[in-house]
Amino acid sequence: MKDKFEEAKPILTTLMAAGHQAFFVGGAVRDYLLGRESGDVDIATSARPEQVQALFQKVIPVGIEHGTVMVRHCGESYEVTTFRVEGEYSDFRHPDHVSFTSSIEEDLSRRDFTINAIAMDVEGGIVDPYHGQQDLRQQVLNTVRDASQRFLEDPLRMMRAARFVSQLGFRLSPNTKEALTTSRELLKEIAVERIAVEMEKLIAGRYVQEGVELLVESGLVHELPIFRNRNNLVPVLESVTSRPLQDMASFLSLLVHYSTIDVKTFMTEWKLSKATKNKAHTLLDGLERLSCDPLPYVLYRVGEELLDSFRELMDSVGYDQLHPKTSVGKLFKELPIKSRADLAVDGKDIKELFPDEKPGPWIQNLLNDIEYHVLLGQLQNDRNTIREWVIEWNPHDPS
Ligand code: ATP
Ligand code: MG
Repeated sequence: MKDKFEEAKPILTTLMAAGHQAFFVGGAVRDYLLGRESGDVDIATSARPEQVQALFQKVIPVGIEHGTVMVRHCGESYEVTTFRVEGEYSDFRHPDHVSFTSSIEEDLSRRDFTINAIAMDVEGGIVDPYHGQQDLRQQVLNTVRDASQRFLEDPLRMMRAARFVSQLGFRLSPNTKEALTTSRELLKEIAVERIAVEMEKLIAGRYVQEGVELLVESGLVHELPIFRNRNNLVPVLESVTSRPLQDMASFLSLLVHYSTIDVKTFMTEWKLSKATKNKAHTLLDGLERLSCDPLPYVLYRVGEELLDSFRELMDSVGYDQLHPKTSVGKLFKELPIKSRADLAVDGKDIKELFPDEKPGPWIQNLLNDIEYHVLLGQLQNDRNTIREWVIEWNPHDPS
């Protein structure tokens, strides 16, 4: 078994020593069987949440009403969920009730796709009542039990299907695809935030083109924020996802860059965070400047933190073809200053040069000018040199 499972083994053995059943479940098992790098290791157990809490020192009750607690072990967090079956879904989101069970097979029956409904015991033994391994080999997504029914219970599963297509390069079985196409309108019942989590994974998938193709072919795209009622954005979506994107900020930047949609509308409809918004504004500013400002200056404005994201966007907009051999990292390293804090003068220095003038936007403008010349190597980043330059070449004239 892989290291990640090795590290989590003591949780299983502790549960088993107390007389409970315990298995690895979910994406980590699927990815392990695929030989693929995986995310978190999730654990399912017959122990009730309170029994799990009693067995471990550090337990956080993250979703205790659904049977999930977070167990901390050697610096890692593991979701440990009691085997459960779900009742009816009357609100499309949450089952009306969940009931605990002592059967792993029953627990697996509530899971979305057969490839996600495989459990692995501490010895590496597999429990696979829905033939998920066969679907893994055939690279096909099948829902556990009837697809229409499963999409009706929780329409988010349709978005999950598209994101697994994008991440794994699998196809949908014909009846799953058919059910997705006919059930697509149900997605409107789902909270935007939940859709956004799956969308972010979808756009970052290695097979993002296939994922987006499914969204378009099935019509699910018309149920997504921003794309619903905006048919003209669909071709833009297809073209900006010709390669995987880092995150929603990159996605947003490219869509805005290539369409008439603005950041605010995108942000509001997708309910994204302020951090994403700020990041998108910076990336977009950089993209727009690529065609008019020298590259070192553009990279400086983008800043070190977003450099990797920006480099990918430069590839996406074809900058690398116009200017092959540009090493963004090297160019950034060679910049005389990396941020405004590195500039040898600040607003106070500028003000001192013009003691009779009132502070105002002119100080910022002048600093921008200085920064630009320093970045292009036209002005040395030295306090006295800059002061002389300001007085000699760029005297402030407020009149
Ligand atoms: P990732 O590697 O991205 O975490 P994952 O398959 O582990 O993928 P999670 O969202 O972490 O996805 O969910 C863990 C498991 O819980 C899934 O593998 C699946 O068995 C089950 N699951 C998650 N969401 C749903 C859902 N909406 N309906 C049914 N089962 C679900
Ligand atoms: Mg997971």
